[in-house]
Amino acid sequence: MDLKPPKESVLDRFLRYVKIDTQSQEDVDRFPSTEKQLDLCRMLAEELREMGVKDASMDEHGYVFGTVPSNLPGGAEEKVPVIGFISHVDTSPAVSGSGVKPVVHRDYQGGDIVLPGDEGQVIRVVEYPNLEKYKGMDIVTSDGTTLLGADNKAGVAEIMTAVDMLLGNPDVKHGTIKVGFTPDEEVGNGTKYFDLKAFGADFAYTVDGGPLGDIEFETFNAFGATFKIEGIGVHPGYAKDKLVNAVKIAAEIVTRLPKDMSPETTEGREGYIHPYLIEGQNEEVTLKLLLRDFDMARIEEQKALLAKIRDEVQEMFPRGKISLEVKESYLNMRYKIEEEPRLVEYAEEAIRRAGIEPNHSLVRGGTDGATLSYKGLLTPNLFTGGEAFHSKIEWIPVQVMEKSVEVIVNLAAIWAEKTA
Ligand SMILES: [Zn+2]
Repeated sequence: MDLKPPKESVLDRFLRYVKIDTQSQEDVDRFPSTEKQLDLCRMLAEELREMGVKDASMDEHGYVFGTVPSNLPGGAEEKVPVIGFISHVDTSPAVSGSGVKPVVHRDYQGGDIVLPGDEGQVIRVVEYPNLEKYKGMDIVTSDGTTLLGADNKAGVAEIMTAVDMLLGNPDVKHGTIKVGFTPDEEVGNGTKYFDLKAFGADFAYTVDGGPLGDIEFETFNAFGATFKIEGIGVHPGYAKDKLVNAVKIAAEIVTRLPKDMSPETTEGREGYIHPYLIEGQNEEVTLKLLLRDFDMARIEEQKALLAKIRDEVQEMFPRGKISLEVKESYLNMRYKIEEEPRLVEYAEEAIRRAGIEPNHSLVRGGTDGATLSYKGLLTPNLFTGGEAFHSKIEWIPVQVMEKSVEVIVNLAAIWAEKTA
């Protein structure tokens, strides 16, 4: 089906949004963590209303929700699940997002891309081999002095453009579509005040992923382990046979961790144990570790390994006291998503209809979609096209953004086709 183009192109929209500083901030008590995120939230609510999404509004926490009503004949409409599309407005606290000057590198001809504002910032093909696939496309970057903010303003622009397309093409039949824009995802609070009932979707997709064609619905199983180590403090001048040094006990534990099971030596489906904090002094030390694996059985092995290390080191230092506690942080979202196979099946079909081969990629971390899925709204993640997130060399091809819009529109239509 030939569709009427959107009133504003996804690129123009994206270029407008990235210029608005929406950086979030770690470790603050207020929500959202920064006022400035609301500048974009308010703007999105207003633009949605201007497009014809009459109920679009921002709630007290900054969440923007809106409804694209079904255009199916009465009776058919009730049978089609309500599908939501979600992205986050904030950008990473890691790199400045103030005064972003986007650069469009037209008709990219291959090779490394040097950013004009800082020649030290180079997007290298060896690091981002996907670049080679995008020859002839237009690549958007920052000028090298800030991040670009494709994470996640690409998703925002793509969803907004898809809404524009759905409203401008009444021949595309779809059920009720909800859109949601959220603050503070980058500081781990994106779903904190997400009102699932007000949002009102049966299923949703976040549009917050990476390269062309990616669907993500597998995250790590994540656990946190804490060793509390008690030594015996004695003046070192008179310490013979008395002192038990908790610092040395902690070091002994860390030394025994397998070298081939750390974040710096693993990738893809491999899990890791990551000691990330040692705190204290010779009398008492706290040692914290992250346990990560896609497979629960291997998490159990990691737990058993830590317990074994605890026992062995305890035997070496019988007068010290070592306790170990392991707590769940989050579970692989796959266990939830598999409850509704149509979510991934239809997403794959939407991607194929856009002429792309879908690719299941793994999230070596958590996502808002994972949290939402465990709260009851099953939410896989779709590609935006962006890469090198959270850095000054963040980049995204315009034509992949256009494909993302197409996939969202296809997905709305497919859910109606299959279930009406
Ligand atoms: Zn993101």
